[in-house]
Amino acid sequence: KIDFLLIGGGLASATAAETLRREGATGSILILSAESTLPYQRPALSKRYLLGDANVQQILIHPAQYYREQQIEVALETTALSVDTARQRVETSTGRQIHYEKLLIATGASPRPIALPGASLPGIHVLRSRDDCDALRQRASKAKRAVVVGGSFHGIEVAMTLRDLGLEVTIVEEDTRLLRHLESAMLSDFFLQYASQQGATVLLDEPVVAFHGERKIREVETGSGARIPCDFAVACMGVRPATQFLHGSGIALEEGQVVVDARLATNAPNVWAAGDVTSFLDPVFSRRRHIEHWDNAVKQGRLAALNMLGRRMRYDQVSYFFCEVGDIGFDVLGAPEDADEWIMRGSLADHSFALFYLKDSVMRAAFSLGRPAGETRLAEGLIRYRTNLQLHKEILRQPDVAL
Ligand code: FAD
Repeated sequence: KIDFLLIGGGLASATAAETLRREGATGSILILSAESTLPYQRPALSKRYLLGDANVQQILIHPAQYYREQQIEVALETTALSVDTARQRVETSTGRQIHYEKLLIATGASPRPIALPGASLPGIHVLRSRDDCDALRQRASKAKRAVVVGGSFHGIEVAMTLRDLGLEVTIVEEDTRLLRHLESAMLSDFFLQYASQQGATVLLDEPVVAFHGERKIREVETGSGARIPCDFAVACMGVRPATQFLHGSGIALEEGQVVVDARLATNAPNVWAAGDVTSFLDPVFSRRRHIEHWDNAVKQGRLAALNMLGRRMRYDQVSYFFCEVGDIGFDVLGAPEDADEWIMRGSLADHSFALFYLKDSVMRAAFSLGRPAGETRLAEGLIRYRTNLQLHKEILRQPDVAL
């Protein structure tokens, strides 16, 4: 019997394992991973690893030696097939059956299947795993023209990296805006201009309707009937939680996400979940949220581990993520989607800019590009404590006045 069984070989699992040991867990820890590589930093896949600026060792969360020293067993190429929550037992693809005392589900997400004509043609790539990235890199090294389907964070990062690799790139986005989740026409226009300056072609308001080719993809067809020639395409069309193996387990799912309470516990005894796979209660916004970002996976992995050790701590974080579009890095805190007022600080042209999203004079989210770290931390506090900013909006607008 395993004391702490962690299903998923990604960031949330690796962080949970590390936390368990650091906090004094003496029992056995086993990570089950469907992949052939030890847990690694996925964000590098659309950036320096895709560029060829980092090798596998450099993107590992911990080197192999760490797991040995910490006595954390990692079973690679081992997929969990089902969970029996009554018997506290997991069936795996290698035939190994594992009884657990405490279980963490941290299986993340996988690219959503593409339901379009021609989607099975060779040359249509996705980018979630190191294997995906290796395949994409190899393809890119022999190609000239790429189409990136989807102009959100993932798509635009991939597109800019492919430009850096010297490819002709067309981004096709069905929305009227790039990076629509930023909920700002100004920011979308800024990144549209940036992408164009970097030599990418951007088509907005154009859903992809089909892929064409014989033995491999040759063209991407859009809703207006345009056919864009390409040597390959990258589908950055979103992901779905990797929870198919939980159907029938009795573990509550909502839109495929594992439903957890404020302590990241599921409805099944001794089962927790963390990272991209969860639907959790966001205490800052008093509603359920599902977040597919690095920081959330780290913080939830850590908290779930503490609670597996009996701490009974509540998740209490302001959501945060970073993104790198070419040489522009930015951070986003909170939930930009339900603002009724937007306050700008600094200058986008100078790459020193923040956008604060307010609702009823309370900050809900902050976008920050090239601003001091202290300012971002302060914004986090304003969001977390729901500070009423009615009398302080002028200060928010003045980039040289400390907040
Ligand atoms: P994952 O990292 O997806 O790990 C889940 C693991 O579980 C995988 O190894 C998977 O193979 C395995 N698994 C799935 N099912 C099973 C099963 N049944 N049995 C065993 N193993 C299973 N976030 C940011 O904030 N900023 C960024 O700039 C950024 N860039 C990104 C770029 C790319 C290309 C990608 C793919 C993601 C990026 N992210 C970024 C998101 C971030 O990497 C994820 O939020 C984070 O990796 C989630 O961690 P996780 O452990 O929840 O899931």
